[in-house]
Amino acid sequence: METKFLCDAMLARLARYLRAGGYDTALADSASADREVLRQAAVEGRWLITADRKIIEHKAARGRVVMLPHGSLDAQAEVLGKHFAMDWTGRAFSRCLLDNAPLSPVSEQAMDRVPLDVRQSGEAVMQCPSCQRIYWQGSHYRRMMGRLRRWQGAEK
Ligand SMILES: [Zn+2]
Repeated sequence: METKFLCDAMLARLARYLRAGGYDTALADSASADREVLRQAAVEGRWLITADRKIIEHKAARGRVVMLPHGSLDAQAEVLGKHFAMDWTGRAFSRCLLDNAPLSPVSEQAMDRVPLDVRQSGEAVMQCPSCQRIYWQGSHYRRMMGRLRRWQGAEK
């Protein structure tokens, strides 16, 4: 079964990278109590990813929560790699970084919002069916992809 994640509200940045890696990743509402977050993880069949020690003390956390260190994304990715057979690059940029929706090829109408040089390059341009954001391989993409490749290299 596909590994799915729920990041606690403090791990929004990591959640973006998990989505960039193609993982189905929800982000907990910062207003939710620990108990509600654990319930969401159970109902949606997700691993709860957290840096909050308190949450582990809940009974419902057993077999459902992975603790990450505070701080650096690289250190967090390394710990994830110890728990899961992470594939950071195999499905990279197949989900919206903002809302987790699977991307589709860009619609004809939305092509107007894509810079001309990108359109002419013939590269794949994707669009989020939920928020309509458009994705192509710009500098932001390359920076994130560089990091995903590095993490993937460390998985070996
Ligand atoms: Zn979106």
